[in-house]
Amino acid sequence: MRIILLGPPGSGKGTQGDFIEKKYGFPKVSSGDLLRQAVKNEALLDEEVEGALNCGRLVSDDIIMLMIKDRICQEDCRKGYVMDGFPRNLNQAKMFEEINGKRKEIVLDIYLSEKTLIERLGARRICPQCGAIYNMKLQCPEKEETCDVCGVRLVRRQDDELHVIKERLRVYRNQEKTLIDYYKQKGVYNKIDGEKNIEGVFSDICEIMDKAIA
Ligand code: AMP
Repeated sequence: MRIILLGPPGSGKGTQGDFIEKKYGFPKVSSGDLLRQAVKNEALLDEEVEGALNCGRLVSDDIIMLMIKDRICQEDCRKGYVMDGFPRNLNQAKMFEEINGKRKEIVLDIYLSEKTLIERLGARRICPQCGAIYNMKLQCPEKEETCDVCGVRLVRRQDDELHVIKERLRVYRNQEKTLIDYYKQKGVYNKIDGEKNIEGVFSDICEIMDKAIA
């Protein structure tokens, strides 16, 4: 089983991916997390990559594919995985098809308005230690701006500044249609109303997942 979460930055792919992982046991594979981790650990010393991350541009398909291939061949992905942030364009989708393309596939596209996206991304905070995602409006930590798990002070992602958010949305919208058309043609596309609250979105996702698994 491979589950692909589509949707612009701020649509809640990361949060829903975590929920799917918890309920169904398929690990979440986030291309953005893999990149940020590789840069932080200095496993990926590439000025291009750092620049792209900071400005909201896409990293090259070759680098992404190497990282994804390496991650999904690990033992925990044997039964399936949830992709968050990948594929981002048609080329990546086609290359992804070549690896492990026989798996049952579900595409969940979380759709919501630009206004809501900008509000959500502005309120997003992450734990620099464990990567937990919070939202100061929708999913607050128990203690103000502090991770419930690690007790560490939460931070804003560098690319959640307004001008970078706008660039990330522009980049996403550029590629969105071709990706959606591709998955519609494959008959695996599902549109999810992302304007609902977190639980409402997850409940819609579970309905689709349960049908696919049955
Ligand atoms: P995300 O955490 O998914 O919002 O991704 C953060 C940043 O990582 C993006 O703005 C891109 O610079 C880079 N990135 C993540 N996934 C991909 C991908 N599949 N292809 C190219 N760049 C990516």
